[in-house]
Amino acid sequence: MSALARSLYGMRRQASGRWPVLVLLIVWPMLWTGALDGTALWQARLPQVSAVALLTAALVWSVMREVSGARSSAERSGAAELELGLLLVTGVFVLLAATGGARSFLYPLAYAVVSFLLVVHRHRGVAAVLLLAAGALELALGYNAGFEGAWTLTAYHLTFLGFFAAGNMLVLSTLVRRLRRTHATEVENSLAQMRQEARDFRLIGSSLPPQSRSRSRDEEELRMAHAAVEGIHEQLFHTLELLRTSMRLRSCVLLWCEQSGTSKVSARNPPKLVVKEMATHSEYAVEDRVLGGPGLLTSLIADPKEVRLRALKGKRLPPYYQGPEPITDLCALPLLEGASLRGILCADRTGDEPFTDEESAVLQRAADHIRRVIEHERVFAAVERSKYEQEQFYRASEMLSEALTLEQVYEKTFAAVRAIASYDLAVVSAVGPGGEHEALAVDADAQDADFAELAASLRGHRWSDARSLVSMAVKNRHYMPATGELADPDGPLFGAGMKLPKAKSIIVLPLLRGEQVLGAITFVARRQAVFPSATREMLRVIGQHVAVSLQNARMYQSMETRATTDGLTGLTNHRAFQERLAQIHALAERTGQKYSVILTDIDHFKSINDTYGHPVGDQVLKRVASIFTGRARKVDTVARYGGEEFVLVLPDTDGKGAEQLANKLREEIGDQVMTSEHGTFKITISMGVAEFPLDGKDRLGLVEKADQALYYCKEHGRNCVRRWAEGA
Ligand code: GH3
Ligand code: MG
Ligand code: MG
Repeated sequence: MSALARSLYGMRRQASGRWPVLVLLIVWPMLWTGALDGTALWQARLPQVSAVALLTAALVWSVMREVSGARSSAERSGAAELELGLLLVTGVFVLLAATGGARSFLYPLAYAVVSFLLVVHRHRGVAAVLLLAAGALELALGYNAGFEGAWTLTAYHLTFLGFFAAGNMLVLSTLVRRLRRTHATEVENSLAQMRQEARDFRLIGSSLPPQSRSRSRDEEELRMAHAAVEGIHEQLFHTLELLRTSMRLRSCVLLWCEQSGTSKVSARNPPKLVVKEMATHSEYAVEDRVLGGPGLLTSLIADPKEVRLRALKGKRLPPYYQGPEPITDLCALPLLEGASLRGILCADRTGDEPFTDEESAVLQRAADHIRRVIEHERVFAAVERSKYEQEQFYRASEMLSEALTLEQVYEKTFAAVRAIASYDLAVVSAVGPGGEHEALAVDADAQDADFAELAASLRGHRWSDARSLVSMAVKNRHYMPATGELADPDGPLFGAGMKLPKAKSIIVLPLLRGEQVLGAITFVARRQAVFPSATREMLRVIGQHVAVSLQNARMYQSMETRATTDGLTGLTNHRAFQERLAQIHALAERTGQKYSVILTDIDHFKSINDTYGHPVGDQVLKRVASIFTGRARKVDTVARYGGEEFVLVLPDTDGKGAEQLANKLREEIGDQVMTSEHGTFKITISMGVAEFPLDGKDRLGLVEKADQALYYCKEHGRNCVRRWAEGA
């Protein structure tokens, strides 16, 4: 219906003649006088019949002329619409009059024509006039009917006319309202989406979903690229659809040039044309993304300038059609980036309407817009990437600041860097003041035979080769190599003799703390370009975090040592001894193993201090401590119990064994010749031994028993070892 309406109204009228008006002026009085009435005609003579036939022919001719004229004019005036409508209505009523007037069997035709005219009208006034005209002509037929009940019939007809008119208007207005509603919802939805996108892009660091925390760098990049591509497609489709609707296009298509290799695009070396996005009404648009060849667009590829083709008559078709589409006009514009052709924007239509200069300018602006959309998406993608990078920094520093011990620092460093670059081998190394490096921690996939082997030999490895890449990075206080690529595969990395498996990417980051260089972190990857410029910059900053954490962990470690060690002798202090004893005791209780405690006290130590001085006394304490540690096993605990008293805890040792060891220690200490300003001297020591669980089941009680045995020694001449015994 609407297509017919367009062909009737939508096109053109050349000069509007006087014929339609003249015809109407003659026919209407005839209808009113009943001259065209069927019976009147039948009774009339030949001249009257000929006159009516002539007028009817004129009426038909006028309608035909209006209809055919409509094909060649762009004007669509209300007057033309009224003329054509009146002619049609009048024609129908002439037919009704001639076929029985009010009783004509053709009445449904009147309703159909009036409904049709009301649906296709563009001007409300015209619709009202046409309805009134139909009513007036209906009254004329009723007036001329001349039989009983004619007015009742006319009233019926008028009611029907009114009913059809109202029905059509109702349907139309509901349709319009629904369309408006749909449109409003669409606009609202796209606005909401845009707002969401704006939020996504602006709120840096908060829009990555929690599950993205476990994603790798590659997955994250893919996700970001995917979102950008979706964004581009959505905007492209909206633009093309807008062009298609507003310019009455059959299709609006964006083609993309996919170049093979680096060779320049030309007519001889045509690019592969791919449909990037398309808005079309055609059923014959290609389904494949890749087009067979440029076809009509060959000249544009050879010389990237606008191409406007007309009068194609559907014989020559753009390459994105695969069936008979009656395309008459085509406008194709190149999408350039610099001088190189990146895409082609094509607009085509049927109906012999050549593209005007204004339309071509609009298309050109649309092409510029499309280029900007793609550029913007690139910027957005970059913003997304930097947002991701900031998140990684944030996470890395969060992880590293949580790390207290050195082990934790190594572990968090590897985890943080793994989220940024997928390496195959990572090494944290320390550098001493003499330029000697030591590998402190190594990370490699245990399944990766080549690197796992190297990792194993690297643990604890020391080197001081000044030519090694690590040494150079430490010396230059900057990451090496500058490109992140391994230039010389044979050059030493961790000193000579450490052969690196096949690797393409490498980066060594010095760990700097102010003026101090603590060491370096090295990352090696088999793949190429694992450390591009942006990643290197990120790693450089993360290296600074690692250096801070490493220094903190070292400080923490030394504080821990200080809190548990005796400053003079380097032995476990009293507090740490109590903890250690509790652990050994708990283990022995669980496993049913024995253990022994030896409590010692230097004899007459006060007088040594008094005779030789306090510093000499300190030397004595140190000497005794070193004799204890020299004889103790790894599992034994030697602690300074307080003053000149020491304690030894010997797991898996009974009282007898402990007594033997104590005697050996006593003898060795007794053999020591001490030196001082006031001459040499010797010392003796007393020791008490107690065994778990034989002498006591409670750990404090056990120490108490050892103390009692020690006291026994002191009471019985000193320089002796005594096992605790009941009543002794
Ligand atoms: P004995 O045990 O044989 O009964 O006699 P003693 O002289 O060893 O007795 P006492 O336990 O009274 O003396 C311990 C002395 O050890 C007292 C104190 O001045 C000295 N002393 C404690 N701690 C230190 C220390 O760190 N350095 C030095 N030089 N002397 C210390
Ligand atoms: Mg004492
Ligand atoms: Mg003493």
